[in-house]
Amino acid sequence: MLDSLKGFGVTFHEMFRKVDTVQYPEGKRPPAPRFHGRHQLNRWPDGLEKCIGCELCAWACPADAIYVEGADNTEDGRYSPGERYGHVYQINYLRCILCGLCVEACPTRALTMTGEYELADDNRETLIWTKEQLLAPLEQGMEAPPHPMRLGSDEKDYYDLGSAGVVGRATGDAADDAGHAADHTGRAADDTGHAADDAASSRRDSGASQESGQGKESGQGKQSGQGKQSGRGSMQREGAT
Ligand code: SF4
Ligand code: SF4
Repeated sequence: MLDSLKGFGVTFHEMFRKVDTVQYPEGKRPPAPRFHGRHQLNRWPDGLEKCIGCELCAWACPADAIYVEGADNTEDGRYSPGERYGHVYQINYLRCILCGLCVEACPTRALTMTGEYELADDNRETLIWTKEQLLAPLEQGMEAPPHPMRLGSDEKDYYDLGSAGVVGRATGDAADDAGHAADHTGRAADDTGHAADDAASSRRDSGASQESGQGKESGQGKQSGQGKQSGRGSMQREGAT
């Protein structure tokens, strides 16, 4: 008898609680800050792609959901600041379990995950996302590749300035004060938090960076062995499985 009353007590208590139902899809709640949603391929502040086509993300993926084909940058066709870029990049969201291991494997922070979770579709073909769909949109100060490296006069300057979030400018302008900026960001490397604030106060466009933590990498784009095929076969849309 007592147990029954206790049970009804729980029921009555719940009846008068504020309803916590979200009327999805009309109403939506923002996901948690570290939610694992769909992927994004990020850019440097001048618009070049961060992906260097190394395929580490594809090898790290436990669901075999990523397909990458790298290609060489040339002076006439530069898509990333390194030697290589991701020529073909596909993620199969029929397979992806949104675990984030690919993000952990990426050496350039090219690949991150957004808070976007509406990935359902009634068509298998459209669930294979291409590089064009995954690339971050161009923001103010960015220029659509291919184009030369716009930050500083050499590769070191580029990564120093890019890590500090400096917005893309004409090569000449950037080269004029690349040394100063490189010194500035180099000192700041000892104190990452201060570096971001300091560099931002002089040059950074607040909208230049798509992802957090992009200042961690340096010297990207030099790894050997790029372009090696995983042997998994292309996930061309026609062949979606
Ligand atoms: S989130 Fe996990 S399953 Fe999805 S592509 Fe990355 S490694 Fe593969
Ligand atoms: S690990 Fe990063 S840089 Fe390498 S292919 Fe994948 S996204 Fe591109």
